[in-house]
Amino acid sequence: MEMFDLIILGGGPAGYNAALKAGHAGLKTVIIEKRALGGVCLNEGCIPSKALLYSAKVYDYTKHSSQYGVTVTGSSIDQKAVVARKNKVVKTLVGGIGMQEKAAGVKVVYAEAMIEGKDSEGFKVKAGDEVYCGKQMLLATGSMPVIPPIPGLREGVETGFVMTNREVLDLEEIPKEMVVIGGGVIGLEMASYYNSVGAHVTVIEMLDHIAGPTDADIAKILLGNYQKKGIDFCLKCAVKSLSADSVTYENEKGESVTVKADKVLCSIGRRAVTTGYGLENLNVYMERGAVKTDEQMKTNIPVSMPQAISTAYQCLLTQLTVRVRLLSTTSSARRTE
Ligand SMILES: Cc1cc2nc3c(=O)[nH]c(=O)nc-3n(C[C@H](O)[C@H](O)[C@H](O)COP(=O)(O)OP(=O)(O)OC[C@H]3O[C@@H](n4cnc5c(N)ncnc54)[C@H](O)[C@@H]3O)c2cc1C
Repeated sequence: MEMFDLIILGGGPAGYNAALKAGHAGLKTVIIEKRALGGVCLNEGCIPSKALLYSAKVYDYTKHSSQYGVTVTGSSIDQKAVVARKNKVVKTLVGGIGMQEKAAGVKVVYAEAMIEGKDSEGFKVKAGDEVYCGKQMLLATGSMPVIPPIPGLREGVETGFVMTNREVLDLEEIPKEMVVIGGGVIGLEMASYYNSVGAHVTVIEMLDHIAGPTDADIAKILLGNYQKKGIDFCLKCAVKSLSADSVTYENEKGESVTVKADKVLCSIGRRAVTTGYGLENLNVYMERGAVKTDEQMKTNIPVSMPQAISTAYQCLLTQLTVRVRLLSTTSSARRTE
């Protein structure tokens, strides 16, 4: 069993930045990631969504180029090439993080982590066939999409009719009719992309406004711009059920309305990943599905720290508290959509 000063669960922006800081501060650090370094942000969130939107922007420019005195004839979108470019961008950035971790002396383990418990030596975490022991542990397991118990939704996810933020970034064919459930930032970005590349998009949102907690004036401007682009919005509407090719919602007047769909994006929010990796083996305090922490982002589990690593650790903790707070703010902002 290899001993570490710090074990990090999850290689997203919280985990990989923490690992870099820890490595540079001289802590013997291991980061355990079950999918890919970069987490949601680099692999299925911020970066790939912006890569698609950039392609849409270029395409939109070609459609309106005459306004700028530029003649472009016969422009078209090649969705497979767009997705391939997006994948290349992601691969480059993820590779870059791997190299930075190596340079910082951080060990990266690609496996699903399972916390076995804590004893006098430290936290025991199993990953693959190995058990790692850490004097400290950072939980950075991120978030996942919420799939509410709407009849037909889960079945739709299983057949591929309903997509989450992961699948929607890899569609190689543009759907004719696309329904987006949830008019928060993730739903709006994808509604905008697929509208630009030729899909007819309907956004169904329960609130009376889009873009979640965004400033009301900005949300209004956004709504106007999206409507001008041709996106349909059903506000104050609650999705009630899905069939194999349609979505039924209840509108403000209580009427039931059905819209046809070739693909549906479910983007109604995200929840913290706190189950399935042995948190219960530590008796960590939880609060409304999230790990309960103090103002320094520490859990209720006491950790004793050898003097030798305390200075480096204090320095790391200060940096991390700032960083993790920023990320938590971003994540909770996303959760509220
Ligand atoms: C579509 C979309 C677009 C977004 N766009 C933006 C944007 O433009 N700007 C912005 O600031 N934010 C954006 N976000 C939010 C941003 O992605 C998150 O705030 C950020 O990824 C959170 O980082 P994290 O490290 O906390 O978690 P995550 O990125 O979720 O990383 C957690 C990691 O932990 C791993 N993991 C979980 N359990 C285990 C386990 N048991 N063992 C091993 N590994 C495990 C996961 O595989 C994952 O890689 C977007 C999110 C989405 C979904």
